[in-house]
Amino acid sequence: MNEKNCIFCKIIAGEIPSKKAYEDDMILAFHDIRPVAPVHVLVIPKIHMDSLNDINQDNLGYVSHIIEKIPDIAESLGITNGYRVVTNIGEEAGQSVKHLHFHVIGGKKLGYLG
Ligand code: 5GP
Ligand code: ZN
Repeated sequence: MNEKNCIFCKIIAGEIPSKKAYEDDMILAFHDIRPVAPVHVLVIPKIHMDSLNDINQDNLGYVSHIIEKIPDIAESLGITNGYRVVTNIGEEAGQSVKHLHFHVIGGKKLGYLG
């Protein structure tokens, strides 16, 4: 299910290095290369989907597994005072990588959205 030329598929395949925060057979969490806060990881499914717009009955299990694991990942990163989960969808939201990813951001007081 890997997509050619998708940088996050290449990270999953180990073709591009990443600093891993969590991994199992369905998902991978790794530190963002340009963090916007002291803690900034990306959590991705190990199948290619462009964004949350591509969700369907067949891939929903990957997304629910990500949601289930995010609290554990956040705890392991020490952001127990609160954090933010964001997924950008499409151009106007500023999505720059077309492989579904959830930003998990914390470690400082965060400003309001938008
Ligand atoms: P988006 O703007 O699509 O919501 O978020 C994409 C994120 O991926 C950005 O925060 C960007 O810094 C991060 N990113 C892009 N390329 C790489 C990479 O090769 N490695 C890592 N670790 N992060 C990346
Ligand atoms: Zn991909």
